[in-house]
This record gives sequence, C-alpha cells and structure tokens, in this order.
Amino acid sequence: LQESFLVGLIGDGVDPSLTPPMHEREGDAQGVRYLYRPIDLGRIGRAPSAVGDLLRAGRDLGFTGFNITHPCKQLVLAHLDELSDDARRLGAVNTVVLRDGASVGHNTDFSGFAGALRDGLPGADLSDVVQVGAGGAGSAVAYALLASGARRLLVADLDGARAASLAEAMRSLFPHADVVSGAADADAIRRATGVVQCTPIGMHHHPGTPFDPALLSPAQWVADVVYRPVETALVRAARERGCRVLDGGRMAVGQAVDAFRLFTRREPDAQRMRAHFLAM
Ligand code: NAD
Repeated sequence: LQESFLVGLIGDGVDPSLTPPMHEREGDAQGVRYLYRPIDLGRIGRAPSAVGDLLRAGRDLGFTGFNITHPCKQLVLAHLDELSDDARRLGAVNTVVLRDGASVGHNTDFSGFAGALRDGLPGADLSDVVQVGAGGAGSAVAYALLASGARRLLVADLDGARAASLAEAMRSLFPHADVVSGAADADAIRRATGVVQCTPIGMHHHPGTPFDPALLSPAQWVADVVYRPVETALVRAARERGCRVLDGGRMAVGQAVDAFRLFTRREPDAQRMRAHFLAM
C-alpha cells in the first residue's frame, strides 16, 4: 500500500506562503507522495467564515488535513470534533488532522516555538522574559514561554488593552507564573534575561526594531518571530552585541515540523526542513 498525503493551507493571502513547499520537499526527501495546496480565501472569493465548509469539503475529497492561518484560527474551533488540550487552552488551532471521519485540532505555532526555543537556545534563562507584541503570534509565544517554564513574563504592546488581556488569559492558565502587562521600557529590557519580538516590526515593509537594541547585553538571549527577512535588524543587532539569538525562521519551521508529524505520523528531519526553508 502506497502512503500518500494531501494537505491544504486555509487563510487569507496564503498563496506565497513557504509552508506548502517546506512540507512537499520533506515529503520528497522521505520518498512519500505529499501534495500541499495553498487555499487562499481572497483568491477563491470566500469569507473567513467559510472555513467550516472548506474543512468538510476537504474531508469528503480525501484530504489528510489542513493548516489554518489568519483570520481563521479561532473561527475553525466551532467546526472540529476534537481539540488537543493545548489548542483548547490557547483557543486557537493552526493544524487540523482528518482521520477516520473525524477532525482534530492542534496548535503547532505554540509547540513549534517551544521546540525552536529548546533546540535553538538550549538552556535559555526563562526567569524574567519580556515579550513585545500581543497579537496572534504573541499569544502562541506567551503560551509556549510559560509552558516551557518562564517564571516572570512581561507582555508589552502598543495596544495596552491587548497586552493586558493576553496577560490575564495567561495568568489564569499558568497561575504559578508571574505574568504582567506593561511597557517594554529601558528598565524592563535591561532587567530581562531574554526578550521576544512578536510585532511586525522588522519585516521588509515594517523596517526597524520595536526597542533600542543598544539596551541589550551579551548575557541576554533574543528571539524574533519575523521571518521575512530571517535576519531582521533586531536579530543582527542582538548578535552583534553578543546575545544568543533565535530567528523567526525557527518558529516558522518548527510549526511545519510538528504539523508534518501530525499529518503523516512520520518523523520529519527538522534540520533538513530548516535548510529547505533557508534556501527558498
Ligand atoms: P498581529 O497583528 O496579530 O499582532 C501584532 C501586534 O504587535 C499588535 O497587537 C500590535 O499592536 C503590536 N505592535 C505593533 N507594533 C508595535 C510596537 N512598535 N511596539 C509594541 N507593539 C507593537 O500580528 P501577528 O499575526 O501576531 O504577526 C506578527 C508578526 O509575527 C508578523 O510579522 C508575522 O509575519 C510574524 N509571525 C511569524 C510566525 C512564525 O512562525 N515565525 C507565525 C506567525 C506570525
């Protein structure tokens, strides 16, 4: 029996995503038939609320599963038969596995960042972390930091209400951690053992850094979630200052590694997927 896999990515503006070719090339390298199609809501003229219909159509057409991205990660929750514990706690799903007629939601954004942190910054001191950015990526990252043992987490965002509500949600999930919201000012950055950047600042069309990297010292680690470019101004400046650095490509690859494993029940080669990602 020849194993084969058919996967889709549902979201807005996903046609240029690097996730489909990352999965397909890993499938090629493993010698399995693996097709992965972007299903761009804008291109096909469907509203985000169509995610449930698309899931059911995919099940009927023999899809193995879907990755789900902006703006459907919460909308999809209502259409699933089961949820992993982490996806339920986080209230967001980016991976749906269709098997034996049932749909099961997972969140590999969080597990991908947690894995990236473990592999890319082994032994990182999580005793006092500052996170800048409390949006979609920031929610998964905060959850991953706390699940990885962060003791104190300061969440900052230009939208203070957003930071406060993420901090409150994380406090109720991780009552033993000290989670607060506030400004990522000079004192906070200097005091942190590590800093995570979860805003769009650093992308090609949002150049710059969300705080002054001159505040960083070599004992600190710095992680960025922006992966276009992989080498953001913050990653470069932090490295130049002697900090250990985790680039945003690590999370992008990590979520794909974990999703590939869920879809195929085969072990992906994370280093090979990282190499494919960097070559694209
Ligand atoms: P979002 O719009 O949901 O959240 C971004 C947040 O950043 C907003 O709350 C905004 O108020 C805040 N913000 C913007 N500028 C700020 C500043 N200067 N200081 C403080 N806060 C600021 O966006 P998102 O979906 O979370 O995506 C954020 C970035 O993460 C994007 O660049 C995206 O490409 C990247 N991302 C990476 C991965 C990955 O796997 N590496 C996954 C998801 C998103």
